[in-house]
Amino acid sequence: MGFAMEEKEAQVHGNIFIIKDRCKECGFCIEFCPEGVLQKSEKFNSKGYHPPIVVNPDRCVNCALCEMLCPEFAIWNTLKGEVEAKIAS
Ligand code: SF4
Ligand code: SF4
Repeated sequence: MGFAMEEKEAQVHGNIFIIKDRCKECGFCIEFCPEGVLQKSEKFNSKGYHPPIVVNPDRCVNCALCEMLCPEFAIWNTLKGEVEAKIAS
């Protein structure tokens, strides 16, 4: 029981950032995210494409696959708490 709790506490989580107007709707980030964090938005961006939206933020494991695959540099991730830590220091 103790082990299961330690394992859960050790799980890494990430924050996702999206510049919607850069997206060209290739769908790579949505298709290859291993945790189903992203979904195609029903809304259009300024170029007429449907960008991704974050639908399951708590499931992000900060693997950076979405960031590596995006040809438009429109999406990236940070370790949860990292941005807050930078602002605080
Ligand atoms: S960092 Fe990994 S888990 Fe998080 S949204 Fe991107 S692909 Fe999905
Ligand atoms: S990988 Fe980049 S360009 Fe492709 S859908 Fe995702 S955000 Fe848009």
